[in-house]
Amino acid sequence: MYTKGFDNHSLATFRQKVGKARHIAIISHTNADGDACGSLLGITLQLRKAATNAASISPILPNGCPHTFLWLPHASDILSGESQRELCDEAIAQADLLICVDLNTPSRTDFLQDDIVKASAFKVLIDHHHDPAEEHFDLVFSDPDISSACELVVWLSQALWKTKHMDSEVARCLYTGLRTDTGGFAFSCDQPSCWEAAAFLVDYDINPADVQNRIVNTFTFDRMRFYGFAIAERLLIFKGQKTAIFYFSLEDQRKYRVSGEDMEGLVNYTLMMEEIEVGALLREEPSRTKVSLRAKYDTDVRLIASQLGGGGHTKAAGATVEKPLEETLLWVKQLLGISFTQPSLLA
Ligand code: 5GP
Ligand code: MN
Repeated sequence: MYTKGFDNHSLATFRQKVGKARHIAIISHTNADGDACGSLLGITLQLRKAATNAASISPILPNGCPHTFLWLPHASDILSGESQRELCDEAIAQADLLICVDLNTPSRTDFLQDDIVKASAFKVLIDHHHDPAEEHFDLVFSDPDISSACELVVWLSQALWKTKHMDSEVARCLYTGLRTDTGGFAFSCDQPSCWEAAAFLVDYDINPADVQNRIVNTFTFDRMRFYGFAIAERLLIFKGQKTAIFYFSLEDQRKYRVSGEDMEGLVNYTLMMEEIEVGALLREEPSRTKVSLRAKYDTDVRLIASQLGGGGHTKAAGATVEKPLEETLLWVKQLLGISFTQPSLLA
């Protein structure tokens, strides 16, 4: 049971907006993960049944559905802001109902944020990050204590429609986000509601082992060799600070033919070392650096990410820093209390 529940007025408003909507746009964040893709599709597929007056329902991701999640039911319906910009702009501009999911502020959609802010649609936020930018939304369903946006969608769907629009495809999408945002039910899963949501979804005949294979056991040979290189050559270990940092230049990524998607999960390897409590991964992009942060115990990495201009959760956070790799590495080290001259163990 999701004991917090939702207020009846918000549910009634949302139900009414869904019933009346002619054009619906649903959007999640840049560099979508399993929770972003799963919640985006889980909502889209249910709205295809619930929004009986809708002429169009458009799921959108700023830089498309990552290859890793293309196997999700109807993932090929997701519009990419990068390669289908005009279609996305049009879908957002003509929407009378716009739903943002698994993000707390429009800026998490990068170049689509202006479209979202300017749109005349009724705007709904469904999310589990801290500090939702409520000023940009007409209706907010937000709970930073819940495991994942997908779990919130499970409880919200039940409150709105009972199980009327739930089926095995929706369940497969939502289970995926629960699975990925909890690192395979390893963290962010201390509330019983997380396990109850998983049990509810498993009852829809999804196959958890198959989902696991599709999420985890999908490495290309290039990606596997890159992991070897990463651990051998690009892992700084600061024993004193119980901290480890991966860092990758554009050149590294070119050489090993890997992209950001291929590094999904790599930052967690830092925490596999018993003595390490905080891990970071820095990946250079043209003219900026993507930072991922993870914590094992009490360090709140969201606070570090927010100093870098990002955000996230206490144990998993990130930021996009408009600086080259070297400068960002110095800044991250400074925030983690590592002095510039301190020697590191290059494992
Ligand atoms: P990851 O390290 O897997 O990219 O992201 C972990 C978490 O950090 C995400 O779930 C998201 O909440 C947050 N996050 C990642 N990148 C950014 C970013 O560029 N800006 C903000 N505000 N949050 C981010
Ligand atoms: Mn999430």
